Amino acid sequence: MADLVLAVDIGGTKMAAGLVALDGTLIERAVQPTRPTRRRSAEEGGPASQDLAEPLWQDLAGLVRKVMDQLTREDRLVVCGTGCGGPMTPGGDEVSPLNIPAWRSFPLRARLADLTGLTTFVDNDAKALALGEGWVGVAAGSSDYIGMVVSTGVGGGIVLDGRLLDGRLGNAGHVGHVIVVPDGRVCRCGGRGCLEAEASGTALAAITGQPARLAPAVVVERTGTLVGRALADVVNLLDLPLAVVSGSVALGFGQPFFEAAQAEMDRLCRLDFARGARVVPGGLGDSGPLVGAARVGLRGLGAP
Ligand SMILES: [Zn+2]
Repeated sequence: MADLVLAVDIGGTKMAAGLVALDGTLIERAVQPTRPTRRRSAEEGGPASQDLAEPLWQDLAGLVRKVMDQLTREDRLVVCGTGCGGPMTPGGDEVSPLNIPAWRSFPLRARLADLTGLTTFVDNDAKALALGEGWVGVAAGSSDYIGMVVSTGVGGGIVLDGRLLDGRLGNAGHVGHVIVVPDGRVCRCGGRGCLEAEASGTALAAITGQPARLAPAVVVERTGTLVGRALADVVNLLDLPLAVVSGSVALGFGQPFFEAAQAEMDRLCRLDFARGARVVPGGLGDSGPLVGAARVGLRGLGAP
């Protein structure tokens, strides 16, 4: 008998379902692009985005069925864990991912529970990734760290004293709105100079006029510096020795990005307890979101 976790990951670019063993090994997965659900004008002839809520759900349900079909008679699913873009109500009862306009107050947790017959837990995808890195990634064995994601947007999750922080409504660790440039670029939150407004893939495309992956070296370095600046604030505030950074922008930029981030942290983390805090790339690669989602499920069942 093999106990497994059904893992689900939902993002604006792709959605995935998988089977994860209790030791954190991803053993099966199905992935497909998230269908675009931008509201179209009448001239474009497309349906309004709200009408795409059900087709999008059917896509996801198909992925879930596909991996469940891979189960053998010896396998047993113990829980469904899900990572999804925010915002959401606590526990993911209703999700409204910024990058998926078709889902507004979509009852994701109940729909997944109905589909699978499993106890289901849903959390923010960046928090899920932080959990995954602490389970079997580069933060394994660490009881105090931040996991940050720098991709289309910027998100994060904080583990303190061995526990993932939730906060009042589940949004703790949402590091994208730490101010890194006083009076800087306007952010979608209404503020100015937030990390997300200066360093996300969306921001970099707006700043450079081309996709983030084509950003020139000076922009790569600036982005690393700003990420390091935000991380230094968090490290100084919470007494963390480690920051793990994932996401397509950060991992795509690679070494020059991480060197700039580390240099800025070294410059700003000066108190005895904060000195020497490290920033490292995430270690789970493209399996991170599903491994993290599985951990959301196990955490729901009572794992730390
Ligand atoms: Zn902001």
